[in-house]
Amino acid sequence: MTGQMQVNRALFDDVMVPNYAPANIIPVKGEGSRVWDQQGREYIDFAGGIAVSSLGHCHPALVAAVKQQAEKLWHLSNVMTNEPALRLAKKLVDSTFADKVYFANSGAEANEAAFKLARRWALDKFGAHKDHIISFGKSFHGRTFFTVTVGGQAAYSDGFGPKPGAVLHAEFNNLDSVKALISENTCAVVLEPIQGEGGIIPATPEFLQGVRELCNQHNALLVMDEVQTGVGRTGKLYAYMNYGVTPDILTTAKSLGGGFPIGAMLTTNEIASHLKVGTHGSTYGGNPLACAVAQAVLDTIDQPEVLAQVLSNEQLFRQQLAAINEKYQVFSEVRGKGMLLGAVLNEKYKGRSRDFFLAAAEHGVMALVAGPDVIRFAPSLVIKSEDIMVGMQRFEQAVQQVTSV
Ligand SMILES: *Cc1c(COP(=O)(O)O)cnc(C)c1O
Repeated sequence: MTGQMQVNRALFDDVMVPNYAPANIIPVKGEGSRVWDQQGREYIDFAGGIAVSSLGHCHPALVAAVKQQAEKLWHLSNVMTNEPALRLAKKLVDSTFADKVYFANSGAEANEAAFKLARRWALDKFGAHKDHIISFGKSFHGRTFFTVTVGGQAAYSDGFGPKPGAVLHAEFNNLDSVKALISENTCAVVLEPIQGEGGIIPATPEFLQGVRELCNQHNALLVMDEVQTGVGRTGKLYAYMNYGVTPDILTTAKSLGGGFPIGAMLTTNEIASHLKVGTHGSTYGGNPLACAVAQAVLDTIDQPEVLAQVLSNEQLFRQQLAAINEKYQVFSEVRGKGMLLGAVLNEKYKGRSRDFFLAAAEHGVMALVAGPDVIRFAPSLVIKSEDIMVGMQRFEQAVQQVTSV
């Protein structure tokens, strides 16, 4: 890259708004589940860009899709439709409960559309009183003001002035807490099948089933936020398929683009009909480049052998983590499903997930945290066994370092 300005991490603090605190390294290249930084140091990627790089870095099918589309057509806006968007929507409809798709550019935007649709559906059908949205403590739904208010951590929505109203929070996996809040005024209950940012907390089958029944009894919509759990991450195309509980609205993003920004909201014909022409929109939503890449992602992942690999990778991760735990006694449990796993720190190491995360990076493995007590793994769904083994050797060194001081 001749003629390019030399840049380094220090420049971040000079020119970037300080809402992030990125690591000290700057990755410059990736291939599969390996990444290299400016100094040529190699990392095994167990983070997947926060459950986004579902096929690793520079997967040939995605590189081909983006190149092909880049030479055809980049953008139109929604004044016209486009072929990649139609193909992707058809694929999503054919492989899920949904009849209709709305495209956005991120998880937050997909959720924003879902919450607005739930409100509009209830207003049209039942009247203005039916505007309560019930979500859950520790949930995460994005950072727009509406979605962050629906999310279960007030700290993220405090300090920005008046919040959108009629948002109530129940306790996850506690059906009685939902019963206490749900009423004829409820338009939607919103949940993640596995809470991601909140600490990799899977919904119990009884809880999901119970919430579904409560929604039916009170004419409320069940909205599943599958932004983190979707697109094969739990070994099914969508996590709801593990439970046999079908949502009314589902949102998907992260893994869907494999690294290209895209989000989508899926729903039924009846519910979709309430977002009439002009009620909602986005300039970029359904952009041909994004949709072409997402189609290649779905075509690649939605195959029995790939979904089976997600579960065999999970077994290898669990075996390796159990072996490390036997030696160092750091985890109380490993939760989650497929390639969305959380190693929960035991009493002795409670609150120290960041120390393990930093030590891992030092030893050449990218991990994530999910709150102060959980180390999160959300790698490529097709990460090779060899990369898992090398990454776990490095992670063990990190655990040894943290536990030896
Ligand atoms: C990441 C995430 C979001 C927000 O997605 P963005 O693309 O960052 O806007 C919403 N819901 C869940 C469950 C997520 O994990």
